[in-house]
Amino acid sequence: MKVCSFCGKSEDQVGHMITSPNADICSACVLICMAMLLEEFLKRVQIDGKQTKVKDQD
Ligand SMILES: [Zn+2]
Repeated sequence: MKVCSFCGKSEDQVGHMITSPNADICSACVLICMAMLLEEFLKRVQIDGKQTKVKDQD
């Protein structure tokens, strides 16, 4: 039985599990991670948008 390495729920409880040789993650934890990453990404985009472009690459 696969168990989520993050929340400890079993595959039966979460419905879907993404597995790897060393760790497994359930769909709920993936969504939490995605939300966190998206939030972080959006913050950066907003910050970048406010800042004047000083590092324009030619
Ligand atoms: Zn989980």
